[in-house]
Amino acid sequence: MSPTTDFIAREDAWGAHNYHPLDLVIAEAKGAWVTDVEGNRYLDCLSAYSAVNQGHCHPRLLRTLVEQASRVTLTSRAFRNDQLGGFCEDLAQLCGMEMVLPMNTGAEAVETAIKAARRWGYRTKGIPDGQAQIIAFENNFHGRTTTIVGFSSEPAYRAQFGPFAPGFVLVPFGDLDAVRRAMNANTCAVLIEPIQCEAGVLMPPDGFLPALSALCAEQQVLLMADEIQTGLGRTGTLFACDHEGVTPDVYILGKALSGGFYPVSAVVSRREVLEVFGPGSHGSTFGGNPLGCAVAREAMRVLHDEALVERSATEGAWLLEQLRTLRHPAIKAVRGRGLMCAIELHEAARPYCEALQTRGVLCKETHSTVIRLSPPLVVAHDDLVWAVEQLRAVFDEQ
Ligand code: PLP
Repeated sequence: MSPTTDFIAREDAWGAHNYHPLDLVIAEAKGAWVTDVEGNRYLDCLSAYSAVNQGHCHPRLLRTLVEQASRVTLTSRAFRNDQLGGFCEDLAQLCGMEMVLPMNTGAEAVETAIKAARRWGYRTKGIPDGQAQIIAFENNFHGRTTTIVGFSSEPAYRAQFGPFAPGFVLVPFGDLDAVRRAMNANTCAVLIEPIQCEAGVLMPPDGFLPALSALCAEQQVLLMADEIQTGLGRTGTLFACDHEGVTPDVYILGKALSGGFYPVSAVVSRREVLEVFGPGSHGSTFGGNPLGCAVAREAMRVLHDEALVERSATEGAWLLEQLRTLRHPAIKAVRGRGLMCAIELHEAARPYCEALQTRGVLCKETHSTVIRLSPPLVVAHDDLVWAVEQLRAVFDEQ
């Protein structure tokens, strides 16, 4: 048995089968490249769903992690720690906001935002208790908790996981009239991914986000942007909302907030919104822990010091231009913003991802017909040139 087959057999025998990974077993990674247990190298064009924007095993993050881990890792919020305040300050300032509530995973941050919005709605808008409504969009992806999958439109995410929490209304992505029709006096928030990445890198029509923001302001409804995947430079601006000059009321962040070292997520908003939480109303044993806070602070500094937002914009524009020159009957559409690019096919994307894997490029299909290309923002230009050559070769062969 090869090492690869052995690792896969053990994972499949003992681990739940809730993913369908490509069959390579990664043992090491650095920057934009990973190495499998057989010593084969691959260019990572997924970046752990945009969690490693700063590149794998960034040396500054590694140093920070080790230094902090040798001092103190976890205090719980029962006591204070010397990293939390600085993390909240840095993140609030980065977002141009006033307050931060740290959690761990993206789904937890979304749950936190839902709680904040509901309580804000009861206290500020006078919505009758238990009646708050949140508008979300068809084809959304906000995580995997039962509340969140309860308002998903994807049968695979929901089937046999009910009963689900009430209080959510779905409308078509990008349809302002539908949002307007769905709003009523009990609407406390609209929850949106400014680009629906998991749905296949879908962008709303130009002008939709500003119009939505204006509608929310007019109706006293919070606009909550789930920038867990799109945020922190991935789309060529700090936040995807920036492409349209929109500042939401609430940012929901995760993934690249800690550069892939440690799960750190956060809800970032105005004081008025996050002050709805008092002691006892919300919490997490690991949320705001000193290890995560120290790593996340350094991850934000790396984004700035290495001009990764700008790199994402320039390299992403180049990549998109190249992808638009690909010619193949299976290609239905090519789209992207920054280093979040996608090739939509008329047929299944999986065989293309497998063919790319044999040529040393790692992509994962999303929504079965879309090849998403989202390498770490530190990816070298020459590596992208090489990746495009591999793509051309794969399309030539298929
Ligand atoms: N929201 C968006 C937009 C995401 O892309 C994801 C993860 O892919 C999540 C939420 C959930 O994050 P997590 O997997 O850390 O719970």
